Amino acid sequence: MSVAQRINEIKNELPASTRLLAVSKFHPAEAIMEAYEAGQRLFAESHVQELMRKQEQLPSDIEWHFIGHLQSNKVKYIVPFISLIHSVDTEKLLEVINAQAQKCDRVIPCLLEIHVAQEETKYGFDFSSAKELLESGRLGVLKNVSVVGIMGMSSVTDDVSQIKREFASLSAFYHSMKESVMPQFRELSMGMSGDYHIAIEEGSTMVRLGTTIFGERQY
Ligand SMILES: *Cc1c(COP(=O)(O)O)cnc(C)c1O
Repeated sequence: MSVAQRINEIKNELPASTRLLAVSKFHPAEAIMEAYEAGQRLFAESHVQELMRKQEQLPSDIEWHFIGHLQSNKVKYIVPFISLIHSVDTEKLLEVINAQAQKCDRVIPCLLEIHVAQEETKYGFDFSSAKELLESGRLGVLKNVSVVGIMGMSSVTDDVSQIKREFASLSAFYHSMKESVMPQFRELSMGMSGDYHIAIEEGSTMVRLGTTIFGERQY
């Protein structure tokens, strides 16, 4: 099946409230253009250098998202054009994004990455520290970032009920914050190739699919 056929198949099964983010990391510009020709406009990368190279080379109406661990010293390279940063994992990083965004007079939409998986190595806030930040009022002074939701990844496991529990906990947190202090919340970014059907059931607004669209990555 071609990239275009896969895109169309996935789009047909997504509910109207869930958007498709094509994760193009490690895939060449030609593969991205195949998806683009099929109408896909939202793409995500997880490495700054690779993202910059592709952004320069590819059509300017692509909406680029960043989903990888972002180092503070590289923020300045992506703030001029990035549409959404999914992977804000510390308050310090949010402050750096705010400072750099101010320099180019932009307001950058960001998601707080929440750590729910059992793996120790994953980045992100736990629920209590994210809640503390969102309720603190400290975001109010960061005029050049807009925190519009959360992102999470499930554990690497075959236990469907565990994945479902993790996504359900992200969804519950998202809705409780939206109903209390964050009425501007609009993105619940969860679901990858192996688990996006479960994420959709739990209310994902954006699934991040790489392998399902482009096949295995060549590292
Ligand atoms: C690589 C990556 C994805 C896409 O993974 P697939 O399993 O290929 O769909 C989604 N989200 C994040 C944060 C990633 O790093």
